[in-house]
Amino acid sequence: MSNPSLLILPGDGIGPEVMAEVRKVIDWFGTRGLTFDVSEDLVGGAAYDAHGTPLTDATMAKAQEVDAVLLGAVGGPKYDVLDFSVKPERGLLRLRKEMDLYANLRPAQCFDALADFSSLKKDVVAGLDIMIVRELTSGIYFGEPRGIIEEGNERVGINTQRYTESEIDRVARSAFELAMRRNKKLCSMEKANVMESGVLWREVVTEVGKDYPEVALSHMYADAGAMQLCRWPKQFDVIVTDNLFGDLLSDAAAMLTGSLGMLPSASLGAPMANGRPKALYEPVHGSAPDIAGQGKANPIACILSFAMALRYSFDQGDEATRVEKAVEKVLADGVRTADLLGEEGVTPVSTSEMGDAIVKAL
Ligand code: ATP
Ligand code: MG
Repeated sequence: MSNPSLLILPGDGIGPEVMAEVRKVIDWFGTRGLTFDVSEDLVGGAAYDAHGTPLTDATMAKAQEVDAVLLGAVGGPKYDVLDFSVKPERGLLRLRKEMDLYANLRPAQCFDALADFSSLKKDVVAGLDIMIVRELTSGIYFGEPRGIIEEGNERVGINTQRYTESEIDRVARSAFELAMRRNKKLCSMEKANVMESGVLWREVVTEVGKDYPEVALSHMYADAGAMQLCRWPKQFDVIVTDNLFGDLLSDAAAMLTGSLGMLPSASLGAPMANGRPKALYEPVHGSAPDIAGQGKANPIACILSFAMALRYSFDQGDEATRVEKAVEKVLADGVRTADLLGEEGVTPVSTSEMGDAIVKAL
C-alpha cells in the first residue's frame, strides 16, 4: 500500500513559520515508521507573487488528489491593494468551493494548564472538549436573492436564508459520523420557532438520526444554545448548526478556551473512494502580520490541525491523541509562547522552541 498523501500549503505571514514546526512532528512520525507522501506548494500571497494568482490550477488539481490538505494562513497588508479576484483569501475560497467542503469542524478543547486563562470560571472550562460542526457552503451567506435594492424612497439590504434537504442531510451525516467516533451525543441548533429553514433543518436532522440510533440527538434553539454554551459548555459533545449560527457559536465556543494560537479546524466534504472525506485542515488564526517573521507565533493550532488530519483522514486516532497529549504535557510543564503568557516571571519560548518541546514530549 502506498503512503498516505498530504499537501502542505504554508501560505503567508506566520503560516510558513508554524508549518515548519508541523514538519518536525511529521518527521518524528517518519522515524517511527509512519511515513506520509508530503508535497508542498504555494497559496495566497505567496502564490500571487510567484504566479500572479493566489492558487494555480496545478495546485488545485493536486489538492483534489491527496488524502488531506494542511494549510497555514493566507493574506497580509502587502496584498490589500490587489484586485478582489486575485486577493490571497480567494485562494482559500477556491479550495473550499472546488473541494466542496461543506462541514466545518471547530473543536473547543481546554487544556488544564490554560484553564485559568479563560474569561470563565475554571470549573466551567477545565476538561472541556466539544466540537461544533458548522455548515459551510450554503445558508444566508450564499442564498439568493441578495443585494441592496431601492424601495420607495429608501434602500433595502437583502439576504436569503435557504437550505435544501440534501444540503442539510449531508452536513447532518458528517455530524452523526463524528458523534459515533466520539461520545454518541449530538445537539442540533436552529431557530425552528421563527425560521422555515429551521423547521426543515430540524425535520431532516431528525430523519438522518434514524440511521444513527446509537446517537442521542437533541435539538435546541440557537439563542438558547448560545446561552447554554457560556453557562455550562460541558453539557455538549458535538453540536451541528447552519452557516450563520455556526459562525457565531464556533467563535464564542473557541474563546471559552483561550488563545487563537491554540485552535485547529477541519473542513470536510463528501467521502472519497477510500471512505474518508475530502479534507482541508488549518489553524483558526490568520496570517498575523503583526508578529510575522519574529519567531513569536504559537505553532500549536497548526500542530493540532495536523492531529485532526491524523484522526479524520489517516485513521490514526491513537497517534492524534499522542500529539494532543504531547501538547498537554508541554503546557503542563509551563512552556509558553508569548500569546499564552498569563503569569508574571515566565519567559516566552520561540515558535521553534515550542515545536522542539512538543517533539521531545512525543
Ligand atoms: P484573518 O483576517 O486572516 O483572520 P486576523 O487579523 O483576523 O486575520 P489573525 O491573523 O489571526 O487575525 O491575528 C489576530 C491576532 O491574534 C493578532 O494580534 C495576532 O498576532 C494574534 N495571533 C494569531 N495567531 C497567532 C499565533 N499562532 N500565535 C500568536 N499570536 C497569534
Ligand atoms: Mg479574522
